[in-house]
Amino acid sequence: MHNLGFSFKNIVDSAHDIVIVTKASPIDPPGPEIVYVNRAFTELTGYSAEEMIGKNPRVLQFKETDPATTSKIRAALLAQQPVRTSIRNISKTGRAYWLDLSIIPLRNDAGDLTHFAAIERDVTAEKEHVSKLARLSTTDYLTELLNKRAFDQVLREHFSMYQRKLANYSILYMDIDHFKMINDTYGHDQGDAVLQALAEKCAGLLRPYDIVSRIGGEEFGVLLPGVDELPAMAIAERLRHAISDIRIKGYQGGSRVTISIGVSAPRPADADCLDALKRADSALYAAKKGGRNRVCRAG
Ligand code: GH3
Ligand code: MG
Ligand code: MG
Repeated sequence: MHNLGFSFKNIVDSAHDIVIVTKASPIDPPGPEIVYVNRAFTELTGYSAEEMIGKNPRVLQFKETDPATTSKIRAALLAQQPVRTSIRNISKTGRAYWLDLSIIPLRNDAGDLTHFAAIERDVTAEKEHVSKLARLSTTDYLTELLNKRAFDQVLREHFSMYQRKLANYSILYMDIDHFKMINDTYGHDQGDAVLQALAEKCAGLLRPYDIVSRIGGEEFGVLLPGVDELPAMAIAERLRHAISDIRIKGYQGGSRVTISIGVSAPRPADADCLDALKRADSALYAAKKGGRNRVCRAG
């Protein structure tokens, strides 16, 4: 190569990305033996070049690394092909971090494979940001229950299993009675506290795999996997009773919180997962008309 008037080693030494070079063989332990790490490597992992030269990069690997990831890397190394993947590693101090890892086979002038170079970037912050956004997009901020969008997705999945005759389920549509009056009488913050208390009560009473969602202001949807409409009525009654324990803070013995519930289950003629939800909503309307604080079954 022409003399460009600068040193590639200087660039690699001081690059922000991590660079590791290993011998090409053996691939299996005790190899591949590390012959070079740059400064960014030491800054992220806490291991100095002296500590790492002669070792293999596996000491950095997270013990529970997805076997699919390790076998993807191994297959590429054996085939002398480049590979790019995400991998979770552990620093010297025990901090886990995510790397975007790219491995390149290096050949000599004769075309023989001599080394592998790994170029890595710490993508922990980006990974955490993405999973936080995913969580926020499916969660209701006040109660930490699933939001309407996530509940619709759950309904779609269960309805598709129902259509394939793989599973049945029931839906409860709950609405707090005279919630506007609770807000007007005790204040919006007390109203919020009631919504949170109701969410907690439901989670405490139901099975871990029942799905509770805040689908509107003071409206909650519950999907009970594997439960037919009649037993679902009994579960709804239990919830209605339990919720009447909720007291507005500072008003012991005062106003009781009551809810009305509509219950439904999918039917063979349903074309859409929302059909059963609509029937539960109609049953809820009947419960309201019937005097509130009651459970009604879809007609
Ligand atoms: P009904 O018995 O017929 O259900 O009467 P309601 O007063 O509960 O029904 P309505 O739909 O008229 O009122 C719902 C109220 O819920 C109105 C709205 O201000 C309140 N609300 C909606 N979201 C929130 C919230 O996040 N926090 C609080 N505190 N109130 C909310
Ligand atoms: Mg309402
Ligand atoms: Mg209401």
